[in-house]
Amino acid sequence: MRILICILLLGSFTMAQNSFDEVTGKSPNPKNLLQQEAQRAFDKMRTAALTDGIDLLIVSGYRSFTRQRQIWNRKYKKYQVQGLSPDQIFDKIVEYSTVPGTSRHHWGTDIDIIDQSASYSGDVLMPNKFHGNGPFCKMKEWMEKNASNFGFELVYTFNDRRTGFKYEPWHYSYVPLSRKRIQNYPTAQNLLQFLRANKIMGMDQISDERILRYYKEHVLGVHPVLLPND
Ligand SMILES: [Zn+2]
Repeated sequence: MRILICILLLGSFTMAQNSFDEVTGKSPNPKNLLQQEAQRAFDKMRTAALTDGIDLLIVSGYRSFTRQRQIWNRKYKKYQVQGLSPDQIFDKIVEYSTVPGTSRHHWGTDIDIIDQSASYSGDVLMPNKFHGNGPFCKMKEWMEKNASNFGFELVYTFNDRRTGFKYEPWHYSYVPLSRKRIQNYPTAQNLLQFLRANKIMGMDQISDERILRYYKEHVLGVHPVLLPND
């Protein structure tokens, strides 16, 4: 009986650990694949868009914790050299980049897309490329009309009341799966412990208050349809 209880406890611990790893980008995913269901939904959407002359291309899909930590540490060092304090550096980086372990790109459900049939040059993930006479305006209009039919939704919307990351007209999420991830999301305190323990530069000096605010404003600062209990 005692053995059985041990096995059951171990089982539930492993399940909790697995879902924690999935949320934070620590599960093994050597080929950096999207989740299969999300990839299939994207393929269908791509086929439909092609018939309207738009060639959807994923420029960023799955990203691991390790990769996000490289990005973070590189930026951290840059600002450190400029003499900014850990809290100031934190605020700077999270204008555009996520804290490693908190990126939605860790989930295999979220994508940054452009239209590769358009003619463009330079940095592609710039809001002005999706507005006015920008090369991806046609794609943006198409996505506004059609994305939700395939299960995709814009995450960082243009909305003054939304907190956190700036407007990103290129970042879409496959809602049926990403909502499950946010349902299993660690509590703010668990996330704080995780960040402190994972060799992320500055994380031993950045204040609890900063990190807890980031959790509330950034992690949860998304289109309401992506949050649980919508
Ligand atoms: Zn993105």
